[in-house]
Amino acid sequence: MAYAYRCGTCRTTSPAAPNRRSAEDECNRHRNLVHGGHIPDGEEITSTDDGGQFIRLSTIGLFFAGCAVLALIGFIRAHL
Ligand SMILES: [Zn+2]
Repeated sequence: MAYAYRCGTCRTTSPAAPNRRSAEDECNRHRNLVHGGHIPDGEEITSTDDGGQFIRLSTIGLFFAGCAVLALIGFIRAHL
């Protein structure tokens, strides 16, 4: 089972962690780094039986990010 830390304030989810402790470490790191040690609203540790789902979701995200970059490059070239 994989775990992930989700911050509802930042609307982000950490990469899948192999155990709950790792996800909690990520939680503390995120709180300190992004929120100055405060506890953000809507945070949670999520677990999933399908750890591969995170990989598939991040792959889809990378695909759309790549498309966005290519579209931006095309837009810039068309207007220069
Ligand atoms: Zn956050």
